[in-house]
Amino acid sequence: MTASATTTAFSRRGSILHVEEVPLPEVAERFGTPCYVYSRAALTSAYQAYQAALADRAGRPALICYAVKANSNLAILDVFARLGAGFDIVSGGELARVLAAGGDPGKVVFSGVGKSRAEMRQALAAGILCFNVESVPELETLNAVAIELGRQAPVSLRVNPDVDARTHPYISTGLKSAKFGVPFEAALPLYRRAAALPGLTVRGIDCHIGSQLLDPAPAAEAATKIVGLVDALAAEGIVLHHIDLGGGMGIRYRDETVPSVAEYLAPLLAVMRDRQEQLLLEPGRSLVGNAGLLLTRVALLKHGEPKNFAVVDAAMNDLARPALYDAWHEIVKVSDGGTPTPARVYEVVGPICESGDFLGHARELSLAPGDPLAIMSAGAYGMAMSSNYNTRPRAAEVMIDGDRMHLIRRRETLAELFASESLLP
Ligand SMILES: *Cc1c(COP(=O)(O)O)cnc(C)c1O
Repeated sequence: MTASATTTAFSRRGSILHVEEVPLPEVAERFGTPCYVYSRAALTSAYQAYQAALADRAGRPALICYAVKANSNLAILDVFARLGAGFDIVSGGELARVLAAGGDPGKVVFSGVGKSRAEMRQALAAGILCFNVESVPELETLNAVAIELGRQAPVSLRVNPDVDARTHPYISTGLKSAKFGVPFEAALPLYRRAAALPGLTVRGIDCHIGSQLLDPAPAAEAATKIVGLVDALAAEGIVLHHIDLGGGMGIRYRDETVPSVAEYLAPLLAVMRDRQEQLLLEPGRSLVGNAGLLLTRVALLKHGEPKNFAVVDAAMNDLARPALYDAWHEIVKVSDGGTPTPARVYEVVGPICESGDFLGHARELSLAPGDPLAIMSAGAYGMAMSSNYNTRPRAAEVMIDGDRMHLIRRRETLAELFASESLLP
């Protein structure tokens, strides 16, 4: 996401924060809070930044496989599908979503360390582009499932290049100690094994070293190791069709220095220059993170020593990142006008019975009960990680497109929350 796309999609006009042409107070009024709000223009320009950066790749066009887990709403998948995107999925549920949104199964890669046989059958029947296989048992199970169905499963091995992505340990995935992928040293013999299994077609190679990466150097280092391996495989007659360098590009949440997509990809593209393999990428956060915000309202203010609390109607069940990773999200007033109340330093917290239920620490804001607030950069790993903890219905989601508001997920009802439960006989 480039800064310019964000600023055009989210702008203050007079005192009122707008998403594209729509004033946010109208969204709060019409759909209630908490509510996720996305900008179609911001989603589109984030995708187009990747397309533009990859346009110069000679030979086969690159394939951008949006990592569905970052935000799996059907309307978001639809926006990307219409732009020609492929998808990176990690479950049969995500595959079903891609298909329901009109995504092309022929552009789907299936990642994840624990695919079930049922998920393998589902993906084989759908005709996905590739299984990103993460272990020996998975390779063997997939071979068996493919033979049962009389098919050939297209596979990549997810190779762990053992580089340090230098990001939060919970979102770093490329070290030897991580649960993901097969060790670099084991890859050659495993490819030989895969090539010999009758139910498999060796198609590519894949790596993904972590998330919220701001420095392209680790990804370029991983790419260099990967292409070395690809050449070693070719020397043995195992010729790969694609190289999938994963996702992970970071976004600006606060004041991080974030390279543009073109700057981030340049060292990777340099490694890939003159290569015949198709390049695949699996960006998630960088396509959706700065295209969405969480709209909430101040429920009440608790002023006191040593802290002031602003209790809002969104909570950790709606946006888990602060509680989970101590992540920082900008919190701004939707309307800056009106009678100014004195600014104070607030702990912005939700109503959930957990001390970890906070959305922001020590934020200087001038607040009154009822004020709508926007929690920025919430488009990735926001709604997707939400839960019903404390029996809270999950938030509504709204897509803004120019001057139009589309409800793309209505707020859950309380009745729905326990409709699948039953009393004892
Ligand atoms: C999570 C994930 C991605 C997307 O990561 P982002 O940091 O959101 O870009 C891509 N590929 C795999 C295998 C993943 O697990």
